[in-house]
Amino acid sequence: MEISEPAEEVLEALWTVLEKKNASSTALQDIGFKRGDREVEELFKLNLIRSVDGEVEFTEEGRKLAEDIVRRHRLAERLLVDVLDLKGKLVEETACKFEHLLRDGVDEHICILLGHPKICPHGLPIPPGRCCEKEEEATGRIICPLSDLKPGEGGKIAYIYTSDRRKLERLMVMGLLPGSPVTLIQRSPSYVFQAGQTQIAVDEEIANSIYVRIVEGETSPEKPPTRGRRRFRFGLRKGW
Ligand SMILES: [Zn+2]
Ligand SMILES: [Zn+2]
Repeated sequence: MEISEPAEEVLEALWTVLEKKNASSTALQDIGFKRGDREVEELFKLNLIRSVDGEVEFTEEGRKLAEDIVRRHRLAERLLVDVLDLKGKLVEETACKFEHLLRDGVDEHICILLGHPKICPHGLPIPPGRCCEKEEEATGRIICPLSDLKPGEGGKIAYIYTSDRRKLERLMVMGLLPGSPVTLIQRSPSYVFQAGQTQIAVDEEIANSIYVRIVEGETSPEKPPTRGRRRFRFGLRKGW
């Protein structure tokens, strides 16, 4: 389907507002448009949105397309923040341009490289693609969960994804912030990794939630723990 970029932006805005309101329809003015606007009329003509009680909602096809656009936008944000290290306003501006480039399966390549991220840097959900269901792995991946690393492999924390706020706060209090270097030491019976001067033991659930940006050349070989070093256990059922 041929759809203009401005019309794609309207679909994206509608998705975002409905997500925020947790509703299925909203007034056009809520997304800053009105009947007669060229991009809005284009969406009606393509049967991507329809009127309902003075508001607009997605058609089934419109919802699918909007989901795809939002997915591309949020993946682009992850790519720009986690890999290219862009910050602030530049991320938003560049993501809006990037999302139009991530078509025809390019989004899947990016998604695989980034370890199938589930949230954007703003904490909003990234709609999963087919690659996420299959959990496809790439050999040249850039970001993956800590639990996917082999002993001796490491990198810098890209982000932590957990719906448990308390766990997140505790990890952050321990100094596990985006950009902190980490190296995996062992995988069983629990995941133990080095973070700065500290060794931290976590269970699989937490190891799955720490996403690491693999940095070439910053992976240190496995070292035996130095005596006197503090060792934390985090989130393990046993030992707390
Ligand atoms: Zn975002
Ligand atoms: Zn994916």
